[in-house]
Amino acid sequence: MSVLDQQLMIYLKTTDTCQLNCEHCFTNGINGKKGWFDPVATSEFFHKLHKVNPYYSNGNISFHGGEPMLCPIDKMFEIWNNCKHLWPDLFWSVQTNLTYNLTDDRLKVFNEICNKSFGTSWDSNIRWETDKQQQLWKDNVKLLVDDGHEITMMVCLSTDVIKNIEPITILNMAIDLGIAHINFERITNNGNAALNPKIIPLNIDLDKWFLKMWNQSVEHKTYKYINNIFFNSILTSFVYGTHSGCRCRQCEQKIFTINANGSIGGCPNGAVDRTFGTIWDDIIDLMTSEGRMCNISEEAQRPAVCYTCPVYSNCHGDCHQLEIQDNICPAPKSLMIKLQKENDIELYKKFLNGFIGKE
Ligand code: SF4
Ligand code: SF4
Ligand code: SF4
Repeated sequence: MSVLDQQLMIYLKTTDTCQLNCEHCFTNGINGKKGWFDPVATSEFFHKLHKVNPYYSNGNISFHGGEPMLCPIDKMFEIWNNCKHLWPDLFWSVQTNLTYNLTDDRLKVFNEICNKSFGTSWDSNIRWETDKQQQLWKDNVKLLVDDGHEITMMVCLSTDVIKNIEPITILNMAIDLGIAHINFERITNNGNAALNPKIIPLNIDLDKWFLKMWNQSVEHKTYKYINNIFFNSILTSFVYGTHSGCRCRQCEQKIFTINANGSIGGCPNGAVDRTFGTIWDDIIDLMTSEGRMCNISEEAQRPAVCYTCPVYSNCHGDCHQLEIQDNICPAPKSLMIKLQKENDIELYKKFLNGFIGKE
């Protein structure tokens, strides 16, 4: 039995650039660095990592970007074929904007590497410049869902979404499209978002929106139709005492983001600016590098407001990349207070649908 971590999450950026230019993009969208990852050198890195820890049994290797599917597909297959046997319990996936033509090559990636399970993103007014682009995304989602793909939709919680869109409208749209899992991503102050602070909503408005999403989801019994991963990350603490997703506070320990140029960081949102090594480094040197230790230490510390918080035991302090605004945190605090008070474990189990938070 290994004494090292069992959990590994690799975000492997096939490129740092994209054909879109979202205002919140943490790799700087269309202005991100051009070029592809090196499948040979990256494969050697995975083999070195495997020698140090062959026991990773939980987690995944996800192609990221920029837009990962812009990369020549043979490079993606090359690394997958060379490395898929290393940790057979880890699944391979992709996070893609799906705003392109679904060529046979690309379908092959979704079918064979992703085993028909992957993620795509959605937001309002910051991703697609034309209705035609948005329609292309929808058509692609429908086509893939009809072909049996299990899609996770990542919703970006911009100011526009929080101010102008009801949570149930988004949930119903996803359900109508046949999306299997939905998650809600808060914007961190990295890349393009740092240049466009107006797209980051106020924490107090986020808090109200999350509470509304819960109330509407209970009323419409959305758990019958779609798996809400954001709720899962809250509810596992009430039902199973586990802290999953953005509440784990262990991202910097289990995540390695490999930029397309071979530099390595932890959390993908900070991986462009806060690299701590490269794929050519000795693994132990990389693991114990000063930059990684700083990230881990920063993540271990909690903001001052957490120390007196009545729902700390459920929240665990939330994602360390998000900012406190005038002593108001970005977490769904009002919702957690309500859940704690009502303690309706049977209802929470319905939402969790068997998920216990030991990812
Ligand atoms: S957020 Fe994603 S889709 Fe948008 S510009 Fe960045 S990489 Fe492209
Ligand atoms: S640190 Fe925050 S933004 Fe980064 S992967 Fe974890 S939850 Fe996501
Ligand atoms: S709800 Fe806010 S204050 Fe409370 S533990 Fe979570 S992040 Fe900290």
